[in-house]
Amino acid sequence: MPFSSPPYMNDVLPYPPSGNTWLHTGRWRWVEERFRQVCRRYGYREIRTPILELTDLFVRSVGEGTDIVSKEMFNLVDRGGRRLTLKPEGTAPVVRAIIEHEMLAAHPLLKLYYIGQNFRNERGQKGRYRQHQQLGVEAFGSADPALDAEVIELAVRFYREIGITDQQLQINSVGCPQCRPAYREELKQYVKPTLSEMCGDCKSRYEVNPLRMLDCKAPHDVEILSGAPKLLDWLCEDCGEHFRSLRRHLEVMSVPHQIAPQLVRGFDYYTKTAFEITSGGLGSQNALGGGGRYDGLVEDCGGPAAPGIGFGLGMERCLIAMDSLGIEFETEDEAPAVFLVALGESAKSAAVGLLTKIRGAGISADMDYVGKSLKAQMRLAGKLGARLVLLIGENELKEGVVSFRNMMTSQQETVPQSEVIQRIQSWAME
Ligand code: AMP
Repeated sequence: MPFSSPPYMNDVLPYPPSGNTWLHTGRWRWVEERFRQVCRRYGYREIRTPILELTDLFVRSVGEGTDIVSKEMFNLVDRGGRRLTLKPEGTAPVVRAIIEHEMLAAHPLLKLYYIGQNFRNERGQKGRYRQHQQLGVEAFGSADPALDAEVIELAVRFYREIGITDQQLQINSVGCPQCRPAYREELKQYVKPTLSEMCGDCKSRYEVNPLRMLDCKAPHDVEILSGAPKLLDWLCEDCGEHFRSLRRHLEVMSVPHQIAPQLVRGFDYYTKTAFEITSGGLGSQNALGGGGRYDGLVEDCGGPAAPGIGFGLGMERCLIAMDSLGIEFETEDEAPAVFLVALGESAKSAAVGLLTKIRGAGISADMDYVGKSLKAQMRLAGKLGARLVLLIGENELKEGVVSFRNMMTSQQETVPQSEVIQRIQSWAME
C-alpha cells in the first residue's frame, strides 16, 4: 500500500475494522453528544480554538522542563518565519483566547468546554496515540474549592452516564509557589543518595522538574519514591484548607475518592488541586482523564490575575474502556429511511427526480449508482438498512405510480406519484 496514516494516528470510520469497533464515527458522536449535554447542564459553553498556536504559548504555560515541551511537540515554521505548534493540550489555547478576547471583563466567572484534537510525538501503544482527542472544561475567575468540586463531579457524572461504572477518582494537592519550593528541596534531599540508581529520565527530572519523579513508572524508582516525603504534609495553610474544603464538598456530593499523595500531572501550571480518573479496563494506560487548578496561568500568559480549574478527558481511552466493559449503546441510525430502485433508463430519470423531492422533504433517501439488476439494487437496500423500498419500473411509469415495499414486514402497495411524500410520512408513523 503506497500510504498509510501517520504512525499512531487513527482513522475513525463509519465501517470500522473488526477488532477496532471503537473507531466508529457513530460511537464518537454518541460520546461527544453525552459530554455536550452534561456540560450544558452545568452551565459550560463551547469554545473552539485553532489547531495551531504559537510555540511560545506552550513553552510559557506547559513549561520548558516538561516531557511535552522538551520532546513531544509537533513544531513547524510558517512562511512568515513564525514558530507554530500543533496543540499538545487544550488549556493553554483556551487561556490565550480568553485573554485575547477579554472575556473575563464581561464574564468574571467564565465556564467553557471544548472537544479538540491534541498532538504529542509520544512512544505509541494501545491507548497512547500521537493524535488524540480530549473532552475538556475550563472554569475561570474563582478560587473557591466548591468550583473544583463542581468540575470534578462533572467528569465523574459524565463517565457514570456513559456507563463506565468502574471509574476511580484520585485527588491530590500540588501546592502553590509559596509552599512547593520547600517541598521540592525536601524531595531532592530524599532522592539524592539513591539518584544514581534511578532511571535516566528521573536523573534529568531531578534537575529540571523534581516533582515529576513522583510520576515515574520504572519499578525501582517507584520503590525508592514510595518512602518519599508527601506533598500534602508540606502544604501552606491556604493550600491545606483548600484541599480539606474540596474533600468536604466531594463528600456532600457523594463523590467517592482516594487521596493519591504522589499524583502530579505533566504540566508545570498546576496549583493546589490535581486529580485523575482511572478505569480498570484500560490496562497500563489506565488514566481516563485528569485535570487540576491553575491559579497563576492566566496571569503568566499575559492576562489579568484570574484563577482557573479544568480537566481533559481522553476520548480514545473512554471508548476503549467502554469496549472492554462491554457497554452496549445505540448509535445514531444512519440507514436511509427510503431506498429507490429504478428499472430501465426512463425509470432512472424519474427516480432521480423523486429522490431529490424526498430528500427535499427532509426524509433520508438513497439509490444505487452501481448495480443494474433488481436483485443487486435490492441487495444494496438491505445492506444499507433501508426501511422502505420504492420501486419504479416501466409499468409504474406508465401508470404514474410507485411500488412501496416495507422491508420490515414485506408488505407491498402501489401509491400514486403525487402522494409519495405523504405516504412515506404516514408509513414512518405506523
Ligand atoms: P493530559 O492532557 O496529559 O493531562 O491527559 C488527559 C487525558 O488525555 C489522559 O488521562 C488520557 O486519557 C488522555 N491522553 C493524554 N495523552 C494521550 C495520548 N497520547 N493518547 C491518548 N490519550 C491521551
